[in-house]
Amino acid sequence: MTTRIRRLSEDMVNRIAAGEVVERPASVVKELVENAIDAGATRIEVVTAGGGASLIRVSDDGGGIGRDDLALAVERHCTSKLDGGLDDIRSLGFRGEALAAIGAAARLTITSRQRGAREAWSIAVDGGRVSAPEPAALSDGTRIEVRDLFFATPARLKFLKSERAETAAITDVLRRLAIAHPQVRFALSGGDRTALDLAAMTGDDALRLRLADVMGREFAANAIRIDAAREGATLTGFAGLPTYSRANSLGQFLFVNGRPVRDKLLLGALRAAYADLMKRDRHPVAALFIAVPPSEVDVNVHPTKADVRFRDSGMVRGLMIGAIREAFAASGPRTSSAAASATIAAFRPATRGPMRPPSAAWRPGPSYAPGRAATATASDFGFAEDEQAAFDIATPSADLRAAASAPAVAALAQPLGAAVAQVHDTYVVAQTADGLVVVDQHAAHERLVYERLKRGLAETGVASQLLLIPEIVDLAPDDVERLTERADELAALGLALEPFGPGAVAVRETPSLLGAIDAGALVRDLAEEIAEWERADTLRDRLEAVASRMACHGSVRAGRRLKPEEMDALLREIEATPNASECNHGRPTFIELKLADIERLFGRR
Ligand code: ADP
Ligand code: MG
Repeated sequence: MTTRIRRLSEDMVNRIAAGEVVERPASVVKELVENAIDAGATRIEVVTAGGGASLIRVSDDGGGIGRDDLALAVERHCTSKLDGGLDDIRSLGFRGEALAAIGAAARLTITSRQRGAREAWSIAVDGGRVSAPEPAALSDGTRIEVRDLFFATPARLKFLKSERAETAAITDVLRRLAIAHPQVRFALSGGDRTALDLAAMTGDDALRLRLADVMGREFAANAIRIDAAREGATLTGFAGLPTYSRANSLGQFLFVNGRPVRDKLLLGALRAAYADLMKRDRHPVAALFIAVPPSEVDVNVHPTKADVRFRDSGMVRGLMIGAIREAFAASGPRTSSAAASATIAAFRPATRGPMRPPSAAWRPGPSYAPGRAATATASDFGFAEDEQAAFDIATPSADLRAAASAPAVAALAQPLGAAVAQVHDTYVVAQTADGLVVVDQHAAHERLVYERLKRGLAETGVASQLLLIPEIVDLAPDDVERLTERADELAALGLALEPFGPGAVAVRETPSLLGAIDAGALVRDLAEEIAEWERADTLRDRLEAVASRMACHGSVRAGRRLKPEEMDALLREIEATPNASECNHGRPTFIELKLADIERLFGRR
């Protein structure tokens, strides 16, 4: 059999390319809105119908396209944006593919009036067939209409999801672009339900205001500003507090040189930055902008340009992780106001509906996954004497609940105030200058122990204590193998163990910080942790994960009575410890109610 090689027709080439650039209606919206931004628009309006499959119309007030350029604009590989070469891309577009691809797959009409021109012109492309430009009516800018998307490439049509899902994807695309361009007004409307109208924002606060509009005021109130630089690269934007997490990654908006990306490297770095502040199944919320010289990044990796390649990806990863961690560490004790809002919300129904049992009011808000640690009630408290003298266990006296009749004046001025009581042997209540704070004693102490373990790791090493009699812990053989393979890493954290036959390990030393712990429970928990390590974590990540599990075992339990000095010591240490506003699982360690909120609850305001 002889094969014959034929050159594909221009039409066929365009349809094949269309499949890459235009995956779904949202990709059409992305390309058209990016073109409008590149054209310098200050107002962009998007109208859709049928989830974008029957109609997408994007109008802008940008520079427009002249009559003689209209035919070129819809021709493949024609662009006005690549003057600086591929190493110096400053626009969102540059491949000159989108309009040609859309014209090949749908019915496209472009109407445009170039700035300063006396009239507008329009051109139509119908499944790849281009008509001649005609005079048209339009006061300024460009209006692009796309009808019957994929009518010319029916195979694509089959992959479209429900109208609702396509509309949601369009909204998401628009939100991302809107965050990157707060100075542009964006409007989205149509037969589809979701509408968006984002006013143009200017000035220093433009980004924060736009974020509040797009992501909700709660985000703006529960995020800290990031502003860092390293080797010519900058990272700016806002990172949500760890206590303000979500069950999915839809609240993550990342940009490289103003371009929205969903890049694996960057998403991984964001995850790593929060790794020890959040449970694995929670996701941070963030809007972060990376700016690097155009020559340091290749945006031409994929037709949709959602992936990028950095010349020095390690530097970018380091910038992101370092900047976020430092920002949290520097921000001092601060917990999500969403937690306080949830508390207030929990109080409120009592005034309207039937009374609730009082304990219900103190349950964490719905966004915080309950963890076993917080509910654990063990009888051993595991405090090492020298390191935690302030928390020394004494025989509890009959009534430890009231700490002091009048809170200490000096302590009142501290961020977490003066302890006034312990309730249910689990929560410490403190009075601050302008409100009250409720601390989850276990969650808070767990964080403190964890931070001390980490400090020990980074500085002097973690001290261990020799067990008089090694503790033999029975385990499944593969758990024994896992633990012994990692014996060196565990030793760095003060845990010395060795195999004891095929089905057990002998624990010889435990970290002093943890005090008298149940070594069996710790070792079994660590075996589980190690089993999850198949994801190629770095040594540091692994050690911190181990430290986090250890901390949980060595922390003061819920259900233990604290002496007044112990409560105050706990408060002071939370203030002095970085990241102490949340426990290792990302739940808040304390919530704060401002006097103003309390007054509002009682109708005094
Ligand atoms: P690219 O954006 O990669 O250049 P496109 O196919 O998206 O390729 O657009 C082709 C050209 O059409 C652009 O380079 C630009 O000159 C012009 N163009 C497209 N949309 C607009 C618009 N809304 N306003 C002004 N010019 C536009
Ligand atoms: Mg383009």
